[in-house]
Amino acid sequence: MPRLVMKFGGTSVADIARIHNVARHVKREVDAGHEVAVAVSAMAGKTNELVALAREMPRATVASSPFFDAREYDAIVASGEQVASGLLAIALQSIGIDARSWQGWQIPIRTDNAHGAARILEIDGSEIIRRMGLGQVAVVTGFQGLAPDNRIATLGRGGSDTSAVALAAALKADRCDIYTDVDGVYTTDPRIEPKARRLSKISFEEMLEMASQGAKVLQVRSVELAMVHKVRTFVRSSFEDPDAPGMGDFDNPPGTLICDEEEIVEQQVVTGIA
Ligand code: ADP
Ligand code: ASP
Ligand code: MG
Repeated sequence: MPRLVMKFGGTSVADIARIHNVARHVKREVDAGHEVAVAVSAMAGKTNELVALAREMPRATVASSPFFDAREYDAIVASGEQVASGLLAIALQSIGIDARSWQGWQIPIRTDNAHGAARILEIDGSEIIRRMGLGQVAVVTGFQGLAPDNRIATLGRGGSDTSAVALAAALKADRCDIYTDVDGVYTTDPRIEPKARRLSKISFEEMLEMASQGAKVLQVRSVELAMVHKVRTFVRSSFEDPDAPGMGDFDNPPGTLICDEEEIVEQQVVTGIA
């Protein structure tokens, strides 16, 4: 049975109506007979709000650190994803889909100790795989994991993309769909340059270059992970009608495929500008 990881970014879950819309995207794939795990970001603006709250707090006075305690920063900012995952699980249940939320520590998604900018080291996907086999959808919090000190760690801003790709690799998913507020990867940011063209495919290497130069459509580390683990990754829009024609096309969904160079038949000299 094909296995999918679907990731929804902040604007895709910005309010209750959009969360219900996301649930319909998930339902489409479940109804098509796929095993589905979802990675979810905090509702739009939430992480910024939490970061601002943390920054309002006094800095640590210990001589060794002029900064606030990064472990508490992580405890604060990781909460946005916790809320979004619970809301989406309920939205799925309300349309008849067996779903449950998973916090990073519950899986666990193990990270290193670099609080605030942690790297994922390992994901134990066994229980999620078992439950997917029984038809349950896992709604996993993006952006967070469990550090060796047994405390919540976050992956750095935009980190839910990385959570999704890492999850896809751990679950041996056939595809990782990154749903966002644009309908694919463009030659340059379409919000800045209206003449930007949408790419149907882009190689891991070129996407890495664009992301490193600031195209925030994908976090750099997510592209690195997709490249290393050869995760077929699509960037696509959550704003389209979930049941519009072609949305459920398994081999050719609407959006941009990030893939191996060999898969790109028509090579372009310049792919994009970030
Ligand atoms: P999400 O909340 O879904 O993670 P982000 O805001 O992190 O979404 O990323 C999507 C945004 O990336 C788009 O709204 C777009 O403005 C921006 N972006 C920058 N460069 C590109 C590009 N080359 N192609 C598409 N989007 C881009
Ligand atoms: N919510 C986190 C952020 O805003 C992670 C993400 O959205 O990818 O950075
Ligand atoms: Mg993002």
